[in-house]
Amino acid sequence: MKYLIIGGVAGGATTAARLRRIDENSEIILFEKGDYISYANCGLPYYIGNVIKERGNLFLQTPISFGNRFNVEVRIKSEVIHIDSVQKKVKVCHLDTGKEYEEYYDKLVLSPGAEPIKPPIAGIDSPQIFTLRSVNDTDRIKKLVQSQFNTSKEAIIVGAGFIGLEMAENLHQLGFHITIIEKAPQVMTPLDLPMAVIVHDHLKNKNINLILNNGVSSFSHQHEQVTAHLENGESILGDLVILSIGVKPDIQLAKTSGLKIGNAGGIWVNEHLQTSEPDIYAVGDAIEFPHPVSGKSFCCYLAGPANKQARICADNLVNENQKSYQGSIATAIAKVFDLTVGATGLSEMNLKGCHIPYLTSITHPTSHAGYYPGAKPMSIKLNFAPANGKLLGAQVVGSEGADKRLDLLASVISNGGTIYDLIDLEHAYAPPYSSAKDPVSLAGYVAENILTQKVFPMQWDELESILSDKQKRNDYFMIDTRTVMEYKNGTISGSSNYPVDEIREWIEEIPSEKKIILFCAVGLRGYIASRILLQSGFKTVYNLSGGFKTYSLLGKYVIK
Ligand code: FAD
Repeated sequence: MKYLIIGGVAGGATTAARLRRIDENSEIILFEKGDYISYANCGLPYYIGNVIKERGNLFLQTPISFGNRFNVEVRIKSEVIHIDSVQKKVKVCHLDTGKEYEEYYDKLVLSPGAEPIKPPIAGIDSPQIFTLRSVNDTDRIKKLVQSQFNTSKEAIIVGAGFIGLEMAENLHQLGFHITIIEKAPQVMTPLDLPMAVIVHDHLKNKNINLILNNGVSSFSHQHEQVTAHLENGESILGDLVILSIGVKPDIQLAKTSGLKIGNAGGIWVNEHLQTSEPDIYAVGDAIEFPHPVSGKSFCCYLAGPANKQARICADNLVNENQKSYQGSIATAIAKVFDLTVGATGLSEMNLKGCHIPYLTSITHPTSHAGYYPGAKPMSIKLNFAPANGKLLGAQVVGSEGADKRLDLLASVISNGGTIYDLIDLEHAYAPPYSSAKDPVSLAGYVAENILTQKVFPMQWDELESILSDKQKRNDYFMIDTRTVMEYKNGTISGSSNYPVDEIREWIEEIPSEKKIILFCAVGLRGYIASRILLQSGFKTVYNLSGGFKTYSLLGKYVIK
């Protein structure tokens, strides 16, 4: 059997290695158009930032070591430029010599990855503007960064996704002053707005110039500097620009070779990772696959799924499609300065796009028992189904222990679990690690209270629409349930202060004909107060979701 593999990094190299482990006698040829194979794309920002000091540590294998270990013929600088699926052959161009030749296959695997989006705007080809995908991109950025050592340096990051923010942190660490320009009203779109604003605040605290709701309309280049001209007429001068506005599946070869492209713009594959041509398989960033929760196809640009698909693909190549890929729920995590930021499953934006009804909860627990030193704040947002509590999506922003909570939530979503599973999960607990009520259980308890109508959450945007409408506002009475001191330090305009521990004494004063909106710092005291009022005859009582913490951050970065 002769296997050809296109693309020599996450999906391609993993497929080749697995193939060899289960089929010692086949011929395997791996084509990679770049100079390197099997390198750590995810480590590239950290090498630029000098966190990873040795360039050599980025390479998990070299073409020679990979070839020796797996008996795979690795051909670098070799671009596959055409696939003839009828005669089962590919045309390859050796990029150094320009020489073209053909190679026949029994089975072919595509793992060409995704390419950074580079819109055709004026000045985009300036040598000071970089995208980050490969080792060569990394070397170019690193060279420029090192040449600017000891000078005052300005870096512009266009696009505040995961890679953009990782680059912001790493360049900041090297002494660059950072401006982030983002067209959306928030950073990191897998997060919902109430979670993204925590990141906004952290970036501000790190002295990052964060520009939201504003795109770049053009660039101009002068004296080794670039000016980014913004849509609102402002301009920002920088010594380098990292363009990280997203990626798109690299489907050129697949498309020109007649393979089916799906609705999301990726290479179409079936559950066995077979393309529309049965002897051609595809894996990684370039494919689209139905989301297990929404059922809607999407391209998932993550290393974990690419590796999983590669293993399944290799097994299917040898063992005739015995395995099925289940799809990815796009569990992603990033370090953003001192924060750990993660999301899994569907965001509110995804849910609205798929017309899936949902409820949400926000909790702000601490990473471990508050009485044990060093507990760190954490925020968890759940999106779940009103009908049965099925967990649809979850987001975690924190530091210590945020990653393990995200992974737990991801497991529950992957298994089709509900918010009740969060309550039932057993956690390891000792004060330095967690609380007897782990943050994940706590999030489950709150969601259960919402689902079973023990509490009626009010979302920040609902409150906004009430506060901005005088007539509507008259129907509501708003109570800050925090202490007098907290109230005096800042509250939501128009609220009265009835601290939760005294609310029973003042109950006669609260107008029972009005709808009541309660809030506290993070939601717990508001919840307790709402239970008191609901059991004392008040008909309509809301508790502000995420409390004053979430609302005040939204007020700082979103609410005008
Ligand atoms: P790639 O790993 O990109 O490999 C595709 C290869 O195919 C490329 O080397 C390309 O040169 C080659 N190729 C393309 N066309 C041809 C052709 N016609 N002929 C020959 N060769 C070809 N994911 C995470 O989960 N976590 C992270 O922290 C994370 N950080 C990242 C940071 C950066 C800077 C980048 C760029 C990506 C990051 N990712 C991360 C994404 C992750 O690296 C990808 O999801 C993963 O590498 C996808 O694997 P792939 O095989 O599909 O594509």
